[in-house]
Amino acid sequence: MTPLPGPAGDASRPDPLLGPVSVPVAGDRRRHPAPAHLVFFHGPMDCGKSTLALQVDHNQSRQGRHGLLLTQGDRSGAPQISSRVGLRRDAVELAEDTDVRLLVRDRWATGHRVDYLIVDEAQFLTGAQVEQLAELVDEFHVDVYAFGLSTDFRTRLFTGSARLFELADDVQRVQVEVLCWCGLPGLLNARVVGGAMVREGATVVVADTGPAEPGHGAGAAADDGVPVRYQVLCRRHHARGQLGPTPTGPGQLALP
Ligand SMILES: [Zn+2]
Repeated sequence: MTPLPGPAGDASRPDPLLGPVSVPVAGDRRRHPAPAHLVFFHGPMDCGKSTLALQVDHNQSRQGRHGLLLTQGDRSGAPQISSRVGLRRDAVELAEDTDVRLLVRDRWATGHRVDYLIVDEAQFLTGAQVEQLAELVDEFHVDVYAFGLSTDFRTRLFTGSARLFELADDVQRVQVEVLCWCGLPGLLNARVVGGAMVREGATVVVADTGPAEPGHGAGAAADDGVPVRYQVLCRRHHARGQLGPTPTGPGQLALP
């Protein structure tokens, strides 16, 4: 990736990206550099990541700091961070080719402070975007709090999460416990298509989570109209593909 040029106030280094822009506060912080941090909070679906993201934003803004909220494919379908407990805040939707540094630059250019970033759905970040976040931390002293799933329905790390594990100053598993139907901690996300757990398919299929509600059409529909949903399972039941106390799924005999 192309590194950002030096500090905006340095006239000897014309800066095509950040040069003519006055940088409120961030400039002050560069003169008195305080270490900023890149923190990644991760967990399975339903563990309260978006709620925690909004809580961190609340705590930061109460200290007079100004944040920018970013998300991708939020479950509400609108550019905002929304949590299942009903909190929501407007956010900027990231595209795959969004340069996060330019987003921040544009805020600075219009006189807005950006002291910290809240990044929800961080599993969908590209590796390059995680590197851009790290650069904002190290070179521009913007704190970054990223929230996301660690692994996909195949139990493999998402691209964004993998790069965050590699680069973050601090990695924390969200402590709110999600339980598998058996009562053990739920750690892994299962994709359920037409009532059966699947292990193949596109990495990202946005759908609802939680048990299917009979007659309610829970979840999204795949291209062929078959309903898709996600369910959090413990490792053993993810490995077995067992979605509940009554075995269901491919290869199971139907009981009369
Ligand atoms: Zn279980």
